[in-house]
Amino acid sequence: MDTNFSKIRMTGKLLSSKEISCEELTKQYLNNIEKENKILNAYVTITAEEALESAKKVDEKIRRGDSLLPLEGIPMSLKDNISTKNIKTTCCSKILQNYFPIYNATVWNLLKQQNSVLLGKTNMDEFAMGSSSETSCFGGSLNPHNSNHVAGGSSGGAAASVSGNIAVFGLGSDTGGSIRQPASFCGVVGLKPTYGTVSRYGLIAYASSFDQIGPITTSVEDAALVFDAIAEYDPMDSTSQGKKQSAAAGLTQNIKGMKIGLVKEYFEDIDEDVREAMEKAIETYRQLGAEIVECSISELKYGLPVYYILACAEASSNLGRYDGIRYGFKVPHYEDLNEMICKTRSEGFGAEVKHRILLGTYVLSAGYYDAYYKKAQNLRGVIVNAFKRVFESCDIILAPTVPMTSFPCGQTVKDAIQTYQTDICTVPVNIAGLPAISIPCGWDRKGLPIGLQLIGNNFCEATILNAAYQYEAVTRTDTYKAVDMGVTL
Ligand code: GLN
Repeated sequence: MDTNFSKIRMTGKLLSSKEISCEELTKQYLNNIEKENKILNAYVTITAEEALESAKKVDEKIRRGDSLLPLEGIPMSLKDNISTKNIKTTCCSKILQNYFPIYNATVWNLLKQQNSVLLGKTNMDEFAMGSSSETSCFGGSLNPHNSNHVAGGSSGGAAASVSGNIAVFGLGSDTGGSIRQPASFCGVVGLKPTYGTVSRYGLIAYASSFDQIGPITTSVEDAALVFDAIAEYDPMDSTSQGKKQSAAAGLTQNIKGMKIGLVKEYFEDIDEDVREAMEKAIETYRQLGAEIVECSISELKYGLPVYYILACAEASSNLGRYDGIRYGFKVPHYEDLNEMICKTRSEGFGAEVKHRILLGTYVLSAGYYDAYYKKAQNLRGVIVNAFKRVFESCDIILAPTVPMTSFPCGQTVKDAIQTYQTDICTVPVNIAGLPAISIPCGWDRKGLPIGLQLIGNNFCEATILNAAYQYEAVTRTDTYKAVDMGVTL
């Protein structure tokens, strides 16, 4: 089956057939960024020089007649919590506003080896804490489908760059849904890999036992291509295992007889439009020959408290390093060391980050550790086992990515608790370390995209990608043309 939705393969073909040079292509993207980014606020740093340098290398290879690697010459973006040597990496926080890393994250090294063209660093919620990218010190990233709505978060800029056609693909990070939720809100594909498949080396930590880097793309095949490129074993990350199988190679398998689990708790309290889209998707899978299995994970109700207790606890420890001494922002006036640290952290961090550091410190403190942190750790084990139980009778689980579509701008800042609750369908996956993908599956009545989530067993990226690919093949009607890619030939 050749669905021809792969923007990466399409771009690669244009380059190797010399229809456009990599330098021309890169310049087109940079021009488009200049125009579109004023509205979308997807990029917080634009790396034109770096991009053109890689483009020259690619053009040189093409001139020599060398064949190109899958991601060679492809214009892309990196979330601003992925370390890039000598390129500003801020986590969209004032505390890192002038931070230039002295080393590259492994994922960026892997893409650099392929001569992928880095267009810039994308906007995000400060330290990846949020669901709208509005906690960014640069202001939020807007939704390309409706600029009165948010792009989502925390990888809002990454999703907006891909959906707004100012990057062919982007890398985001997902601690509790931050790849899948913005992908769902912006109508693109987002893959959160199994914990341990993609190296976290050089990813600025939020909650280390949940964090995972993954691709945001415009097609399932592209997600598989990027996943294959970045899911390598890395001795620099002690939790690294690498991928167990190639994802792109497994995309054409028939899914007749595949057992798709519907966990009933995932369908409670979801918007009507989302419910309708889910029902249609389930019907499509039935027609593709899948077997629908009804099941239940009553423990899912613990998902949000478990996630917010553990993630905040880990964040409070991880963010202890920003003290004004080693690197990052430091207040200019202070009396002594204590005051310097206190003022630096008070001024350098935004409200949401401070809120979570306080919460995390509280649940770890003597006297409360057993009541909150330990209990949450125990419940994490319970949720892991509940998923194991479901995967004994199902190959994958189908669920909404988010119970609703993109929120209007400004709403998340007003109501933090309600915003946390919108993570209900994404956080269980991170608690259990499982892989999951969000793919577009229709529109609500306001014309905003809806996302369908497919969850797999550990290291079964190939299975969910294949199931997503089969769905895309029968539901998607558009095909990319060069003109859609911002390329004028
Ligand atoms: N919205 C979630 C949070 O605020 C998830 C963030 C993430 O995955 N980085 O923590």
